[in-house]
Amino acid sequence: MQNVLKIYKKTRQDLFFKDLNFLSFFRLEDTLYIQASMGNLLLFEIGLSLLAVFVQFFKLSITLNYPFEKSQISKNFRGEHALRRYTSGEERCIACKLCEAICPAQAITIEVIARNRDTSRKTSIYTIDLTKCIFCGLCQEACPVDAIVETPVFELAVENRAQLLYTKSYLLANGSLL
Ligand code: SF4
Ligand code: SF4
Repeated sequence: MQNVLKIYKKTRQDLFFKDLNFLSFFRLEDTLYIQASMGNLLLFEIGLSLLAVFVQFFKLSITLNYPFEKSQISKNFRGEHALRRYTSGEERCIACKLCEAICPAQAITIEVIARNRDTSRKTSIYTIDLTKCIFCGLCQEACPVDAIVETPVFELAVENRAQLLYTKSYLLANGSLL
């Protein structure tokens, strides 16, 4: 074990002095002085870094313990979509298709049917493909009856691609949570 340690130290020394070959044109005393100064400088820098760690230790942490702690988000944040109803329970969406037309990613698909009681229309199919959506917010801007909105929900992780195809029932369920 002792021998191994000796060989290790010798190798370390050799490597260190090999790096200092450029000092070979100095006198031996000067070389030793420069080496000692560099050693002191290294110690000083290690001391500085330890001091920085010590100071940081007493500073307030800026790391959040997500998902138990969450940072504040802007009130204009555009997250997961939702379809809203009126307080009477009637769907707001009148199937005008403006959101579908304006969507730059062509993520919205709508199919229209007539409402039973009058000539107005409603959607039979309303899907948003979140794999295409770029969360630009144009759909909610275009909607004349504030039916489609983007909520502050940003946790959209799913286990398979099919779960990112939001159906009408899913969007209406999201809307009922607002
Ligand atoms: S947020 Fe933009 S990209 Fe996403 S569905 Fe709405 S209009 Fe389309
Ligand atoms: S969500 Fe709004 S813009 Fe889209 S079809 Fe319904 S009413 Fe029209």
